[in-house]
Amino acid sequence: MHYDFIAIGSGPAGKRAAIQAAKLGKSVLLIEKGQIVGGVSVHFGTIPSKTLRETVLFLSGWRQRGIYGRSYKVKDNITAEDLTQRLHSTIAQEVEIIQHQLMRNNVEILYGHARFKDEHTLSVEDAEGTISEYTADFILICVGTKARRPDHIPFDGDSIIDSDEIINMERIPRKMMVVGGGVIGMEYATIFKALDIEVTVLESNDYILGFVDKEIVEEFVHHLRDCNISLRLDDELKSIEKRDDAKVVCRLKSGKSLLVDTVLFAAGRQGVTDDLALENVGIEVDKRGRILVNENYQTEVPHIYAAGDVIGFPSLASTSMEQGRAAACHAFGSEVHSQPELFPYGIFSVPEISMVGLTEQECNDKGISYEIGIARFRETARGQIIGLREGMLKLLFSIETQKLLGVHIVGEGATELVHIGQAVIALGGTLDYFVQTVFNYPTLAEAYKVAALDAYNRMNF
Ligand SMILES: Cc1cc2nc3c(=O)[nH]c(=O)nc-3n(C[C@H](O)[C@H](O)[C@H](O)COP(=O)(O)OP(=O)(O)OC[C@H]3O[C@@H](n4cnc5c(N)ncnc54)[C@H](O)[C@@H]3O)c2cc1C
Repeated sequence: MHYDFIAIGSGPAGKRAAIQAAKLGKSVLLIEKGQIVGGVSVHFGTIPSKTLRETVLFLSGWRQRGIYGRSYKVKDNITAEDLTQRLHSTIAQEVEIIQHQLMRNNVEILYGHARFKDEHTLSVEDAEGTISEYTADFILICVGTKARRPDHIPFDGDSIIDSDEIINMERIPRKMMVVGGGVIGMEYATIFKALDIEVTVLESNDYILGFVDKEIVEEFVHHLRDCNISLRLDDELKSIEKRDDAKVVCRLKSGKSLLVDTVLFAAGRQGVTDDLALENVGIEVDKRGRILVNENYQTEVPHIYAAGDVIGFPSLASTSMEQGRAAACHAFGSEVHSQPELFPYGIFSVPEISMVGLTEQECNDKGISYEIGIARFRETARGQIIGLREGMLKLLFSIETQKLLGVHIVGEGATELVHIGQAVIALGGTLDYFVQTVFNYPTLAEAYKVAALDAYNRMNF
């Protein structure tokens, strides 16, 4: 019952940390309170939402509409069953891959709810209520988050749902309200709009996606308006009531009322730390249940680490994996070569948004003088061929060194394209790289060259 390393939670952070510790020759236990490994990422978040997105984009014919017109569809009368079919098979395959990876690396899996008994001991309660104890030299808390569910919202799992419930939707609504103009809200709002559902987004701030480059958001909002997504900014839900006919009446602070079939509440997530008995080890959490860690992912108790969404921003599967790996390496004195600050952020809305490196705001705050270069996808041959009406790529270069500082993209393929810029930034590349390098033609990647030439012209007027 004693292990070198125990990870609590089998999401991206726990899985990667457990495998890393095992690769260092350590005995490893991975504890999961759910019925199966994978975490939010596999069962409620990343994989389901991205599978749903692909299914919707295919069945709706969305990618072809720029060529064949807005009414083009691959399938009429898309049902909830059409959407879930692909979902279940993708999730099942992903779980199988994870289980196999863990097994191959000799990571033991234990199903049960872990709570701290003391600084080295966890008590684990299984589904039958049997409690056993396990000790470890090092423990990683990677319990993730759950959707925030304010008391005044009458969630019913049917018409009024949170973002963890949406993948179990049994019918496709005709009218939908999405509460929250953050990443999850905008992803689902645009995915459902691609199904020609009437979508309203309600956001209490007077902006959406606050951390994204303003020009990129402007381009994105232009697209939202163009496809008739109604954005209600600077407004809030005053009351919400489900009628006998299952429709939902939403009354807003502004005085407006809306009648919809479904309300998706996607405004914030909460660390799953309320039932970990952290008080027994003296680890505190903030009001959103998040744990504070140092640069090595250590909590106030040095041999207890925390990684993934439970430590807050950026709360991505990609960064959670890297944090888990780094924590395990640090625990066993293995050197970590990592560039955590240079992670790309991907928003899988329709169209996609992605970015890496500095924003204009950060350049200004750091006193770095910079120039921008912009390319619009419709100006590239590839963009014309695939019928893109929207999409842009924006590059930030240092005026002093000509180094690439930041990449901001909205449009088709943004989450893939961003990695070109990420590599150039990581290797200290300059504007010359894009100007002098031959890109495949016709591709969207060519937009890098167009944007670099734009920046060159601005710098050499
Ligand atoms: C709708 C949605 C879309 C997303 N899309 C993306 C995306 O496109 N790209 C991206 O990179 N990220 C995306 N994310 C974020 C991504 O899912 C998370 O960053 C990632 O899952 C966090 O991983 P984690 O390891 O911290 O925890 P999680 O994946 O949350 O896993 C935590 C695990 O811990 C278990 N657990 C909790 N408490 C205990 C306990 N006491 N004992 C035992 N087990 C416990 C839970 O059951 C769970 O399985 C999305 C999230 C959501 C909600």
